[in-house]
Amino acid sequence: MIPDDLDRLVDKLDLESKVRLLTGATVWRTPAEPAIGLEPMVTSDGPAGVRGEGWNERRTSLSLPSATALAATWDESLAQSMGELLAVEARRKGVHVVLAPTLNLHRSPLAGRHFECYSEDPLLTGRIGAAVIRGIQSRGVAATAKHYVANDSETDRLTLDARVDERTLREVYLAPFEAAVQAGVWVVMSAYNGVNGVTMSENELLAEPLKGEWGFDGVVVSDWGAVRSAVASARAAQDLVMPGPGGPWGEALVAAVRAGEVLEAAIDDKVRRLLRLAARVGALPGSPAPSTAGPYAGDLTVACPAAPYAGDLTASSTAGPSAGNLTAPSALSPSAGGPTTGSVGERPDRAEHLDRAEHPDHTERPDRALLRRTVAASTVLLRNEGDLLPLDPVRLTRVAVIGPNAARPRIQGGGSAGVYPESLVTPLAGLRTALNGHAEVHHATGVALGGLPAPLDVAIARNPRTGEPGLLVRLLDAAGAEIHAEHRLTGRLPEPEGPIHRAAAVEVRALVRPDRAGPWDVAAAGWGRLELTVDGRVVIDETVPRHTDDPATVHLAPPYRTGRVTFEAGRQVEIVMRRELVPGGGRACVLAAAPAPADAAAELAAAVELAGSCDVAVVVVGTTEQAESEGVDRETLALPEGQDELVRAVAAANPATVVVVNSGGPVAMPWRKEAAAVLVSWFPGEEGGNGLADVLLGRAEPGGRLPTTWADRALAPTVPERGVLEYAEGPHIGYRGWLREQDSPAYWFGHGLGYTTWAYEGLWAPERVARGRPVRVRVTLRNTGRRTGREVVQVYLARPQDHERPVRWLAGFAAVTAVPGEQVEAVVEVPARAFQHWAGAWRTAEGEVSVLAGRSAADLPLEAVITVSHSKESALQSHVIKSG
Ligand code: BGC
Repeated sequence: MIPDDLDRLVDKLDLESKVRLLTGATVWRTPAEPAIGLEPMVTSDGPAGVRGEGWNERRTSLSLPSATALAATWDESLAQSMGELLAVEARRKGVHVVLAPTLNLHRSPLAGRHFECYSEDPLLTGRIGAAVIRGIQSRGVAATAKHYVANDSETDRLTLDARVDERTLREVYLAPFEAAVQAGVWVVMSAYNGVNGVTMSENELLAEPLKGEWGFDGVVVSDWGAVRSAVASARAAQDLVMPGPGGPWGEALVAAVRAGEVLEAAIDDKVRRLLRLAARVGALPGSPAPSTAGPYAGDLTVACPAAPYAGDLTASSTAGPSAGNLTAPSALSPSAGGPTTGSVGERPDRAEHLDRAEHPDHTERPDRALLRRTVAASTVLLRNEGDLLPLDPVRLTRVAVIGPNAARPRIQGGGSAGVYPESLVTPLAGLRTALNGHAEVHHATGVALGGLPAPLDVAIARNPRTGEPGLLVRLLDAAGAEIHAEHRLTGRLPEPEGPIHRAAAVEVRALVRPDRAGPWDVAAAGWGRLELTVDGRVVIDETVPRHTDDPATVHLAPPYRTGRVTFEAGRQVEIVMRRELVPGGGRACVLAAAPAPADAAAELAAAVELAGSCDVAVVVVGTTEQAESEGVDRETLALPEGQDELVRAVAAANPATVVVVNSGGPVAMPWRKEAAAVLVSWFPGEEGGNGLADVLLGRAEPGGRLPTTWADRALAPTVPERGVLEYAEGPHIGYRGWLREQDSPAYWFGHGLGYTTWAYEGLWAPERVARGRPVRVRVTLRNTGRRTGREVVQVYLARPQDHERPVRWLAGFAAVTAVPGEQVEAVVEVPARAFQHWAGAWRTAEGEVSVLAGRSAADLPLEAVITVSHSKESALQSHVIKSG
């Protein structure tokens, strides 16, 4: 739609109608305006799946690997594919605007939403984020770059004031958002927090650089509930207030315009942006109908790294005889596993191939096959002593799969990014399927994780009214009469449905047949008065006052109240929880029950005995939802509850121990040198168990490289002092910070092993480059191992003479694939910006810059020197200074 058309539509609306459009009509929808044919636009979280409107486990979604996992692929083509998958999901669910990607940075591993952000490096974050945006928007669905800006931790996130100097803002925290605007993002979300004294929905950073210098022509939506003023936020470049209805704009903003406090032209600009967005996503007449069936933007064969590795199966069958015995993971399309290049015209239409309706059996579905490949491509192999991995199924007879997360993995982080998957593959199930017919797979939990009991679900609960597996949820009026009843599949209910505005209480009821006799923990969660009875006996009766305004806590993580009861095996009981609805307390309810933690010493002893009796022990450890979740930061990087002891004991019992860390971000690993192999599986989404089995058994290489430094301690604090969080470290976050420390982190940014080895042989860069020009760097390397592999070649710059600069910083990267013995060349484009610094404007200092190439921020065997000058670029020259 051309600007004149938008102006004409704006002209048709009076002030009240225009202002009405600028606040949500509901929690997730923008208002319609029949006078101009505008339809409501539906928004939905989020980065690792599209939940759709509201929280309902009956409307399932594909659960993608966490953002950290996606960044660990260092693969923009794959990231674009994930964006397209999100768009296909969005269209399936009637969603126009996906509230992703999250472009905040890993300033500290303690940050609660670390899993939801890509990386500690602005360049990697910007490149992966831009690829996801291109993928989402290629299907006519809007992406949202969030949370603008410096929302890098959770403690007091609604009010904290991040103090960041201008240079650090520009070079580090704003950089991924600038990349998002360059990628053409249609929506940017302003953050809850303030920056340098002004809350972000009123901050001048919305105008400059976002809309002015960068030319962002889309909509600035608020984070949910972030706008608290009419005049200041409307005068700033905030465009849309979410959620609605109600909120601080409406009549107050109309009055402010009439009083001359806000210009009507500013309102028109906001409406014009909203209509432009509507045109882009197909919510205005005359705008092109967005389709899920357009030509596939990404190159399927490149997008799925397992495709090039398919040839690897043959290569690895010589290295490991077993691989040929395994069925390869189902391919996304007939071309997967075939040639890795092809003309666009030859590519299959991905939308067609991603249509889940055509593939009712989910194990055959191409979307899940794509997720499975992404899991393998994101898994980071940190350590592999004696080449324990990949395992050879032919030589295995008994496999121990140990750990709390083996049978109950965390596939996603906590908070607004959560989705309800249709089904999920646990590590235990993935290995059992893959080893079926090869080896016995035995399981021991190993550690009695305390934590909160799990919400009731269809496994042990039945609806007392219908007898179906599940729970009965009722809305009650003030007299206790039922005004609505629904059948649900889980006891975790952020949004019970029905006429909630007429309800005084929510009741959740279930018949439970305990599968284990003995003590059980039963729990209820919600705000206001909570009651829980078992067979009519009161176990909990307490009033829970609301202590926070944070929506992630109010709606998604209300506090639990727990009681202990003794159950007889097989004897059915009726559990009823009831919460009174209180103003501002949302409607979230949880009814949970689980056997009380078993004897810790006995659990550990059983795991150790099992490990000792097997060929190999796979220990899956990880964090809990309380440890990695929106709304709170972590207090420690230590693994919860005796998991360190478990790893140590199992590794002592069996030298062939593989530790799989199932977390969204770094955990301390004091035992890392005691285990032969250590893998990071991140929060892998619903295909986690299959992808992990592929990696462990060598069907796929662990393709991941760390997008963030793993250390046993955090460098930057996340707790504000008197409301202020000083970004005192300036640009030195992550590896840049560690490069200034006396000690080293456990594993550096960029590290990851794969199943082959590489020799870095040559580096070519121009001798001189003119200021403001990009540079092309060529790196030759050779696959010196026995398998085909993919290597992520990383290029860093350094200016040792410039003390205001980080010791070095990532300037570009490129991936190559090679068969054993093959030499390949990686072409790494280094943008002009990589040479620049901010000093009121972007400037390029003249003089010598070191170019370092290698496989992590601390493993850089090749170095060259480029002189930046005002003269012309020189011809390519070989500049290898050191090689190791
Ligand atoms: C989160 C956003 C999210 C929004 C809607 C907020 O609390 O910070 O990332 O998109 O809720 O769920």
